Amino acid sequence: MSELIGKKIVEVRDMTEEELKAEGWDGDTVMCLVLDDGSKLYPSRDEEGNGGGALFGVTPEGKTVYHYLGGEKMGYTHYLYQQKTLNKENFAKVVEDFKKIMPVFEHMGIPLASWNGEGKPEIKATEISFNGLEKCGHEERNLGITWPAKGAKGVNMVCKVNKPEPTDTMVTQLTGVQEELSVNDSDVDGTWFAGCKLNSRTCGGDCSHESFILRRTFKKPYPGATPCDRKEDPEFSKWFSCCKTAYKPYDLAVISALIIAKHHLGKEICVHSDGGNEDWEDGRILCQKMLGYGNDFKLDEE
Ligand SMILES: [Zn+2]
Repeated sequence: MSELIGKKIVEVRDMTEEELKAEGWDGDTVMCLVLDDGSKLYPSRDEEGNGGGALFGVTPEGKTVYHYLGGEKMGYTHYLYQQKTLNKENFAKVVEDFKKIMPVFEHMGIPLASWNGEGKPEIKATEISFNGLEKCGHEERNLGITWPAKGAKGVNMVCKVNKPEPTDTMVTQLTGVQEELSVNDSDVDGTWFAGCKLNSRTCGGDCSHESFILRRTFKKPYPGATPCDRKEDPEFSKWFSCCKTAYKPYDLAVISALIIAKHHLGKEICVHSDGGNEDWEDGRILCQKMLGYGNDFKLDEE
């Protein structure tokens, strides 16, 4: 495979039906890496190509990245463990506070949609569910699967097709301090195994990734929704779900929702993340500014 040296990965995606058929593979979702000369690489489960395989890797920071058979996507993820049924009064406060901060996202130009990336978020007494908007209208860029760079923060909305560049950013909105605008791809800072590392939350033309679904009573996700495995974790006696945001703009809404949830639900939930506490600072600032709490938020110890 030495002919591949120097080639660049330009796309990370699932194999198409046709590609699977050409290999005689069926059933499973298999990852495909597309190189800049059009070559395609996909993992096989053995040397005879008897089926698709799984790909593993590690980032320079030592984070394991992987792509399971069965269609689970890789990417920057937040994890939630919850009691099966959450306290009704506490959950009502979570819903009420999340409603209060919704206008902030609209004001900042972060497009939120329902769990499947279309329509409107569902914010009701039994459930908060949303995603970024799939057809967001932002410039299409090939960023692969995105991950925050060290020190990443804010939201970059400068790459909007046919719209004037905004003159302020999230930090400006919240603090009144003018930030320097990102131009072109200056929101991109190098790459990790599967795509670009970002200096700020941004998208490559699709603001949706995985659904964020927080329900008062835990149950299976919507058919077709893509949170990773939702199951009871016997170690914690809690129910597990997660949301891969790939550090797209709605990541800010996801971490804010979890900060609010932790504030009101306390020990009823545990919140973990691929990011460190420093990656949650924007959510802390937002909640503190809008709701009067948030500065004290810390991720639960693993
Ligand atoms: Zn977008």
